[in-house]
Amino acid sequence: MRYIVVSGGVLSGLGKGVTASSIGVLMKSCGLRVTSIKIDPYLNSDAGTMSPFEHGEVFVLDDGGEVDLDLGNYERFLDLNLGRNNNLTTGKVYSKVLEAERRGDYLGKTVQVIPHITDAVMDWIEDVAHQPSDDSGLEPEVCIIELGGTVGDIESAPYVEALRQFQFRIGRENVTFVHVSLVPVMGPVGEQKTKPTQHTVKELMGLGITPDILVCRSSAPLNPETRAKLAAFCHVPEEAVISTHDVPNIYHVPLMLEAQGLCATLGVEVEPNGMLDAWREMAHHLDTLEDEVVIAMVGKYTGLSDAYLSVIKALQHAAMAANRKLRIDWLEASDLEDGSAEDVHSDAWNRLRAANGILVPGGFGHRGVEGKILAANYARTNGVPYFGICLGLQVAAIEFARNVLGMEGSTSTEFDEDCPNPAVIFMPEISTTHLGGTMRLGSRPTLFQVDDCKVKRLYGGLESVDERHRHRYEVNPELIAQLESAGLTFVGKDDTGERCEILELPDHPYFVAVQYHPEFKSRPGRPSPPFLGLILAASGQPLP
Ligand code: GLN
Repeated sequence: MRYIVVSGGVLSGLGKGVTASSIGVLMKSCGLRVTSIKIDPYLNSDAGTMSPFEHGEVFVLDDGGEVDLDLGNYERFLDLNLGRNNNLTTGKVYSKVLEAERRGDYLGKTVQVIPHITDAVMDWIEDVAHQPSDDSGLEPEVCIIELGGTVGDIESAPYVEALRQFQFRIGRENVTFVHVSLVPVMGPVGEQKTKPTQHTVKELMGLGITPDILVCRSSAPLNPETRAKLAAFCHVPEEAVISTHDVPNIYHVPLMLEAQGLCATLGVEVEPNGMLDAWREMAHHLDTLEDEVVIAMVGKYTGLSDAYLSVIKALQHAAMAANRKLRIDWLEASDLEDGSAEDVHSDAWNRLRAANGILVPGGFGHRGVEGKILAANYARTNGVPYFGICLGLQVAAIEFARNVLGMEGSTSTEFDEDCPNPAVIFMPEISTTHLGGTMRLGSRPTLFQVDDCKVKRLYGGLESVDERHRHRYEVNPELIAQLESAGLTFVGKDDTGERCEILELPDHPYFVAVQYHPEFKSRPGRPSPPFLGLILAASGQPLP
């Protein structure tokens, strides 16, 4: 097992996750089986209880783990299926150690960060690194470990210490330390500044870790003098100074690393397995797309695209497959509501009307819900392609109950516990006392209820599909028969045949909504079927 540890310095947001997953792509293109571990030094047990405002999207895994969005990058880049243990958090490590302390595992000892927490971190890493994470079912050969935060933070200190010790546990030759830093460009001649990188490397070395490779984020390629200076001051050979400069799209990143000899520096060789060629093709294809398709994304964190990262990726995968250049128009759902400022309101409606398709993604809480219902109504009554995900399905059902069945005031009991004829209700099996990790989570089967419908055809005619879930509420089973008799079809249900999973409007170009989150399983080159349906319909192309 070879470990590649990716740490970061200077500031956050340098694309450490993309760098780490791109290194994984290169290792895979060298014929190696790769897995990954993301370390998040916060005290939450998992990302499930954090706001997308602060932390970006909560990514959901097959096993129901609610994890950091970087695990989504790994799954997409490396085509893996990771588990909740691939995301190590301070909350998880401390819980484990504290539980062991109460059991009496350390009886007689003073329990301390060193060695108890650091040992627990090392054990966790070794254990998870050996778990199979792809379809081969075989043990991985390379484990990429990404350390969240920046080196020098109080929070990440125990991890840096654990990783320092780890090189002795497994042998220095089996671990490569990659440090990601920033090279800012200053002044009229665009001087590339090395000082921040010098400082962060000094700090890392002061903590006992000597980097083997420096990855420098910069706007333009590093010039030879900058590279030589960084090598001299940061204790690495020149060929181990790699530049990650701005590129037109993310698929260029593994290619850019390889072009600078990263595989040779890591002592591995690219195999002719076609993997990098496929990346080259995708990078080029995306650069050359011209015909635009505009999708209005009606959400509530629209100023922060990280909050919907996987939805954006899934839209991009689908647009690429449909030969369209994707433009997402972010619409703040509440702007569509009566009562928003007049210019804001009319601008939002103009943009909604100008879009080729409408997507209402998942969400929690009351804010913006009425705007989402209005968007669903507009799409339904004007034949505009609509795709609803999770809350986006629930608002479609509410809209139909209100405006077709005449159930005025109907909504979800999430927003009004006492509303008449609730179209969406709390699921009976969900905890009413604990919010963390208690939703209906992870991979569950959806069984098609009909021989033929748009979504089933998009899924290639399968009788059942496994997709990932994250919700507490569902379409009210008592209303399903009434909704169906008025024309809404519930084409997919869970394995009990009771719970709504997919709804579709037959006499409409594309009015589809799903209770699950198909965005989490979309892959470049293998777009999620209902997303592909939206893009095809929105760009006037025939559906299968
Ligand atoms: N808030 C809704 C529920 O809990 C929708 C959740 C979601 O969109 N992920 O059911």
